[in-house]
Amino acid sequence: MTLDTENCPFCQIIRGEIPSAKVYEDEHTLAFLDIAPFVEGHTLVIPKKHIKNMLEFDPNHATHLFKTIKHVAPAVMKATGSEGFHILQNNFMAAGQTVFHAHWHIIPRAKNDNFIFGTHITYKNNEAMREMAKAITKHL
Ligand code: 5GP
Ligand code: ZN
Repeated sequence: MTLDTENCPFCQIIRGEIPSAKVYEDEHTLAFLDIAPFVEGHTLVIPKKHIKNMLEFDPNHATHLFKTIKHVAPAVMKATGSEGFHILQNNFMAAGQTVFHAHWHIIPRAKNDNFIFGTHITYKNNEAMREMAKAITKHL
């Protein structure tokens, strides 16, 4: 294990060293709820291979990643009753990247939601977060 992967919070989630509200997992990708979401149901999709950002992303792995996004996004919409979603992907600190393991945000949107870009909300408690993950999983 390199220093990068040892200290990376998303690698720690993959290895099961820190808890997460998992939504979907396969050989190449993992999807779990963002701990400080913009709106409820805000989900992160990551490649299991530790890469820092999009520039390190092997385009040959795009199929795995986009398959997972296309699998998970409709379930996020159904579980949250939303009518659309953003895919957001930040690269480098200047663009707001805070975790340096590349990740793709799925952010569900509805007409009258309380979404404010960059404004984080919190789940009522861990149980509420787990329930949201379960609701998404049910729609996969
Ligand atoms: P970035 O700004 O790098 O695109 O997004 C990183 C996201 O990861 C943030 O929205 C933040 O809330 C989320 N995040 C950071 N650490 C953790 C963690 O340990 N667990 C989970 N589930 N999300 C995290
Ligand atoms: Zn990592």
